[in-house]
Amino acid sequence: RPTIGVLALQGDVPEHVRALESAGASVVRVRRARELDGVDGLVLPGGESTTMSRLLDVFELREPLLARLREGMPAYGSCAGMILLADRVLDGAAGQLGLGGIDMTVRRNAFGRQVDSFETALDVQGVAGGPVPATFIRAPWVEEVGEGVEVLATVGSGPATGRIVAVAQGPLMATSFHPEITGDDRVHAHFIRLVSKER
Ligand code: GLN
Repeated sequence: RPTIGVLALQGDVPEHVRALESAGASVVRVRRARELDGVDGLVLPGGESTTMSRLLDVFELREPLLARLREGMPAYGSCAGMILLADRVLDGAAGQLGLGGIDMTVRRNAFGRQVDSFETALDVQGVAGGPVPATFIRAPWVEEVGEGVEVLATVGSGPATGRIVAVAQGPLMATSFHPEITGDDRVHAHFIRLVSKER
């Protein structure tokens, strides 16, 4: 079974560890560059993207991580992790620096104050068994995607109808929402399948 790292600098690390283990992966928490060496794929958790980005530099992880991503290591970013994997960020903090990799523009905190957090259920491309429960917490949405990006899910109702909230491009995938806190591990299982395919 594949070994999946969870970037463990900040954010909801234990929730991703639990979801990945329950979906059948071996999991390693990644804080140091050498901990990256043994992983077949990496999850970038939800949290706060500017803080996480700053900690990538403090822990001297940015360059080694970019190197692995350039080599094609699969990665899955949820919420703040999605922002880190975006090539372009709107409403970012001053000087906000991501990792990039997915040819998309995301808008931070896009759903606005009134709908800070909400739950819904979404059909996700490639995830069988019906709609996936999805929790959004000060979430970004995807404003536009390049040609190589596959849209996996859009919002189905309410003021944000049609907004893109899950994408994949090659070995990279990202969701605006947090599947790791719902107890439904099908999105993580989907990422584990992607990792196994790339291995
Ligand atoms: N709003 C946060 C950010 O900009 C993301 C929130 C989350 O990950 N739940 O980084």
